[in-house]
Amino acid sequence: MTYKTHARAIIGMLISCAALLPAQISQTEISKWQYNKSAAVSLTLDDGSINQFRIAVPILDGYGFPATFFIITGNIPGSRYHGTFVGRPVQEIIRETAGVPTNKDNFFERASAIGFVGYQGTLPYHTRAGELYDEGHNFDKAVQVIDEGYAKVRQGGFKPVDEHEPSANDRNRITWDELGVLAKRGHEFASHTVTHPRLAVLDDANLVYELEKSRQDILDHLGFKHTFSVECPYGTEDERAVDFALARYPTARNRMSDPYVDDLDRASKLDPAASGKEYVRWQRGPLTETPMSLMKSWIDTTAARNNIWLVLVFHGVDGIGWKPKTGADLREYFGYIKSKEDQVWVATFQDVTKYIRERMHGQVHSYREGDAVSVVLRDDMTDARYDLPLTLKTCIPAEWRAVEVRQGGRSGRVEAIRLNGANFVLYQAMPNAEVVKITPVQTGSR
Ligand SMILES: [Zn+2]
Repeated sequence: MTYKTHARAIIGMLISCAALLPAQISQTEISKWQYNKSAAVSLTLDDGSINQFRIAVPILDGYGFPATFFIITGNIPGSRYHGTFVGRPVQEIIRETAGVPTNKDNFFERASAIGFVGYQGTLPYHTRAGELYDEGHNFDKAVQVIDEGYAKVRQGGFKPVDEHEPSANDRNRITWDELGVLAKRGHEFASHTVTHPRLAVLDDANLVYELEKSRQDILDHLGFKHTFSVECPYGTEDERAVDFALARYPTARNRMSDPYVDDLDRASKLDPAASGKEYVRWQRGPLTETPMSLMKSWIDTTAARNNIWLVLVFHGVDGIGWKPKTGADLREYFGYIKSKEDQVWVATFQDVTKYIRERMHGQVHSYREGDAVSVVLRDDMTDARYDLPLTLKTCIPAEWRAVEVRQGGRSGRVEAIRLNGANFVLYQAMPNAEVVKITPVQTGSR
């Protein structure tokens, strides 16, 4: 780097196009958030319960908000993969439990198998042991639950599963075809595993099955775009489970370890406004009992800062699903978010993740050439997944009141805006694509 360009870069950083020095023309930055807004909000809904689609989706669509649905794929009619145990014949395991008490070497296999040993009512033993292990950090109690479950199996305490029993709930399930229609409308679908287990107590083979087979069904039915995000059930922070998930999906709601992001989960009491990081991912979960005033205050806090990505986590809707909110509450709340739309960017979970990463790994080079400004936007997210355009803000000559922005085959007219005495244009550009050309267009009559 020559002295001259070095000095220019430093001046550029210091005064950020505030002065009208000739060197400042063409200077370009990547906006912190899409459309130069001051924050982002993602609306995420877990478990795929039916009223999310029957009641919440029409409200979301009415406001033009895309949402992200973490779906349990094994529940959806037409899925190839359902709940099962991957491993030895379960009869062998049941026989073994009679002579060998559960210990740290066989715990994970037994906890994985107990829901699929061929009897009704055994799955809650997996869930209870999983909760004790994952949230209570109580391995001994978890072992006791598993031992009790297998003892009852051996004593004939459960009725066998009837494979031919019709499922009364089939009418209340969304289909892949219906999800496909919503995906085309801009909603994101993401993995919430095959059966919503406690991943922390699954052995490796079953952990991989839950993560990979749900991904496979989503890929087959909705396409590659929807294999970006995952949420390991119960918001687990189990390190092994989340590591396995992040080896198979680019992002998880459970954990974001990008160094420029402060990750505050749903239980966190930390104040997002106190974070000094470039971005804060702040998760909040509106439950049945959560007051509307508190929910609205999260939006206000987010809009008042410049670095918060508010991730809202909803479950049930109108009586169906865990801790449901009413449709009326959702309508009021989404309406409130709509009223702040000039400040907050409402986008899917994957789009906000992509924006942050592309920007943080992005670089712009720009120069003026006669009556045109050229801008080159690059990032090192070479993966074909990172395909989101970014918002650029370029300083243009004071006399250009409107410009044509062209990148490859795409072009559009954009009006200039004045900020701090300088003239700017805001526009969208794709990273690692053609050079962006900005040229003045005639305004008014002569
Ligand atoms: Zn869930």
